[in-house]
Amino acid sequence: MQLEQFSQINTVDNKNLEILKNPQRSITVNFPLKMDNGEIKLITGFRVQYNDALGPTKGGLRFHQTINQDEVSELAFLMSLKTSLAGLPYGGAKGGVKINPKELSEGELERVARGFMRAIASFIGVKKDIPAPDVNTNPKIMGWMRDEYEKIVGHPEPGIITGKNLDDGGSQGRETSTARGAFFIIEEMFREVDKSQQTVAIQGFGNVGLHLADFLSKMGFKIVAVSDSQTGIYNPRGLEVNKLIQFKRERQSFIKFPAEKISNDKLLGLEVDILAPSALGGVIKSVNVEEIKAKTIIELANAPISAEADRILTEKGVVIIPDILANSGGVIVSYFEWVQNLENKYWTAEEVDTKLKNKILTAYQKVAAETKSQNISHRLASYSIAIRRIIDAEKERGAL
Ligand code: NAD
Repeated sequence: MQLEQFSQINTVDNKNLEILKNPQRSITVNFPLKMDNGEIKLITGFRVQYNDALGPTKGGLRFHQTINQDEVSELAFLMSLKTSLAGLPYGGAKGGVKINPKELSEGELERVARGFMRAIASFIGVKKDIPAPDVNTNPKIMGWMRDEYEKIVGHPEPGIITGKNLDDGGSQGRETSTARGAFFIIEEMFREVDKSQQTVAIQGFGNVGLHLADFLSKMGFKIVAVSDSQTGIYNPRGLEVNKLIQFKRERQSFIKFPAEKISNDKLLGLEVDILAPSALGGVIKSVNVEEIKAKTIIELANAPISAEADRILTEKGVVIIPDILANSGGVIVSYFEWVQNLENKYWTAEEVDTKLKNKILTAYQKVAAETKSQNISHRLASYSIAIRRIIDAEKERGAL
């Protein structure tokens, strides 16, 4: 959704939106990478701190060959809304390095991580801007970056980055947090219905899709279709999720799974109660929106539905839980990791889950109430609440 579309939200004073038109701060860095063959390449990276009215900025770092400043800015803007809606004491940020990680050796990847951290170290800080993993980055890379940062500042600073491994200052529950957060929302939405009659299709069976299927099937929902990048599989009577998980843990594509195959496009068009796009952005757009028959869509991927498709689906009465709410479990548990690092006190998995449930359901209840009172979609309600909180914080610090 673009900033211009917020003019539809009558609970936000449009003149204040000016402050969110561009990021507060952004840098482009260039740093050398020594390749295994001795060659030197100059690598470009970005870090955008979109808005810090609510607190230090927070957001992931991705490694991708097509990344650019505009894309990072857009993602940083969305992070500002996500942290705001979740009620965290954080602003939003995003970063990225323009490389194809699949073309690099492990040693080269480590030198990219360390080189990028050296390049941005003076721009970030544990009370200023805290990176995390994103597309093609992981706990190991976060560990290299933390180590490099600590070498620069000369003292331990585990809270400088989140999404770390457990033995490196990470939090319990981080791996499952995004799916767990969405699960809590779905559980609440479907509290009063017979779960065994509720059918679910999940696009993507990676970290998010796999755990969502696991949590929902254990709660009694009927998972009828799942997919990976190569194919989908379908059984209208329900798939055995345990078998799917075991199959994926052996790192096999669903192509070889003994079940009826379905294309990713067909999966999106299934007549199900819940559709959870959990793979890529931009999968539901004008060209295929007429085929969508799901009653509820939970956006686990970022921006899986285009603005035009969103308008059409909303008019049809499809309930869409937007990305900034549905997938905020990840950043919420990242926040918990940072708090634990600052306090040097670590929580159990149960404590993390309880706190996550409390935070995400508080946000969901606010959105549900605003949806009802203003007669608007969950998306508009989410954006409206998030923007109002940022604007109030800007007013409080005297900027508006
Ligand atoms: P992942 O890489 O672990 O899994 C992605 C899955 O999508 C894999 O099963 C892959 O096979 C599948 N996939 C890839 N290309 C596809 C295609 N063309 N068609 C269908 N499926 C395809 O990623 P993830 O961590 O599970 O994240 C999934 C989505 O959720 C991403 O959009 C990510 O930005 C978003 N997200 C993730 C988190 C998190 O904490 N992991 C938080 C917020 C948002």
